[in-house]
Amino acid sequence: MDLYEYQGKELFARAGIPVSEGRVATTPEEARAAAEELGGQVVVKAQVLVGGRGKAGGIKLADTPEEAEGQAAAILGMDIRGHVVRRLWIERASDIAKEYYLSVTFDRGEKKPLYMLTTEGGVDIEEVAETKPDALARLHVEPLEGFQPWHGRRLVYEARIADAGEQQQVAAIAEKLYGAFVGFDAMLCEINPLIVTPEGEVKALDSKFTIDDNALYRHPDVAEMRDVEAADPRERLAREKGVTYVKLDGEVGILGNGAGLVMSTLDVIDQVGGRPANFCDLGGGGDAQGVVDALEVIVSDEQVKAILFNIFGGITRCDEVARGILAALGQLDIDLPIVVRLDGTNAGEGRRLLSEAAPANLHVEETMLSAAERVVSLT
Ligand code: GDP
Ligand code: MN
Repeated sequence: MDLYEYQGKELFARAGIPVSEGRVATTPEEARAAAEELGGQVVVKAQVLVGGRGKAGGIKLADTPEEAEGQAAAILGMDIRGHVVRRLWIERASDIAKEYYLSVTFDRGEKKPLYMLTTEGGVDIEEVAETKPDALARLHVEPLEGFQPWHGRRLVYEARIADAGEQQQVAAIAEKLYGAFVGFDAMLCEINPLIVTPEGEVKALDSKFTIDDNALYRHPDVAEMRDVEAADPRERLAREKGVTYVKLDGEVGILGNGAGLVMSTLDVIDQVGGRPANFCDLGGGGDAQGVVDALEVIVSDEQVKAILFNIFGGITRCDEVARGILAALGQLDIDLPIVVRLDGTNAGEGRRLLSEAAPANLHVEETMLSAAERVVSLT
């Protein structure tokens, strides 16, 4: 789950990382009132779950409450790379002397948290990694040991931060960021830019915070931060129904039992020249209700032109899944062509059940490749 900047900053503040004071606003009037309360110059910031807001015109300074109101009116409703702005964060403006970058994420290859720190902040970190790899300090933390004071010292040394005051503050922020990363079960904590003010104070001017969905049950207060309106409506429906679903761009609706099998199915559809409309994992069971829920989510996407069931019977037998599919189709009214590939335990029995009882728009195939070719030709 990705957090908005202001939510990430709230968690930063709880972890002891310095941030600026601010208020959320959803209307120009609220933005004006927030600017009045904060006093002085403020920055009006679009809250969207995508980076590069500054370049897109979603971040503006305002000297007076009137100006803040005007900027808010301009930014609300703006489309930033497919994300419509519905919330603003009004923050007391900072003077910036330097912009650094600091993050912790997982390095899956090393199976350890990885720190990155550079004094070349404010821009895309990918660009720094490519053009000035020497300027990027990278350091792993041994997860069983956790953060040790030397990690902070090594990071600021490798990033060539020369000022003693900055060294001390950046190292302290790095330690607190580790606390936030582990404490909130995050997968990414990024501060870009981490600024140094003309007075030499270091603080987080932006936040990118991704929490592991599987750990949200441990953080009910964070789970509540989810903005259900911002999610794709189908993904929201899927979450409500407990269906594992990810929206994709194509026309072939996909259902399979097992995440690995579904991933392979996406590849095979691509291989035969089709485009998957979604990822959808039925999980282990093949009960009718699970199939009904998944089908309802898949056909709510009007881009879907045909559906492929790819079932491998293991512990869940193919005849059970076939009965589930038939019961589900009996409950739903689906005109789209459906291709079912059944293989594994009791595949013969499953196919026989389907060919005896299935409606005319359902086609049974024996192999994954033939099923993929069939469904793509039907879209
Ligand atoms: P992003 O573009 O989505 O990464 O949004 P950021 O929060 O990182 O802001 C982008 C840029 O806006 C920063 O790098 C700053 O240059 C500028 N900016 C943001 N807040 C302030 C502020 O309080 N004062 C000043 N002077 N500039 C700011
Ligand atoms: Mn940023």
